[in-house]
Amino acid sequence: MAPCWKDGLFFMHEMSIAQSLLDIIKDEMRKHDATALRSVRLAIGQMSAIVPESLSFCFEVMTSGTDLEGAQLNMDLIPLRGLCRECGLEFEIEGYAFECPHCNSHSIETTAGQGLSIVEIEVD
Ligand SMILES: [Zn+2]
Repeated sequence: MAPCWKDGLFFMHEMSIAQSLLDIIKDEMRKHDATALRSVRLAIGQMSAIVPESLSFCFEVMTSGTDLEGAQLNMDLIPLRGLCRECGLEFEIEGYAFECPHCNSHSIETTAGQGLSIVEIEVD
């Protein structure tokens, strides 16, 4: 596994994510007999604890010198959304305030904005 350093910081979290992403991408490329990766689009949840700049840096480091070098990593940030279990209102959670703006309930189910997903992989 390639080291992922920047300014003396070690991005353990982003590095393992970048590694998983590359595994999935390579798998997809194999399935489609693709030889070059053009770009990848990711949806990154606001609450995923992923720093897009760090992930982008790790991705670059890990692809440099490989077949995937030069691929573009595009990231869309997905805001955090919640569903109130009391009144059914779906709303955007701001400032991590898990409280329904309608009925003030704290029984909120998160519906979007967690984790990370691959939206699109563009290959040649
Ligand atoms: Zn409510």
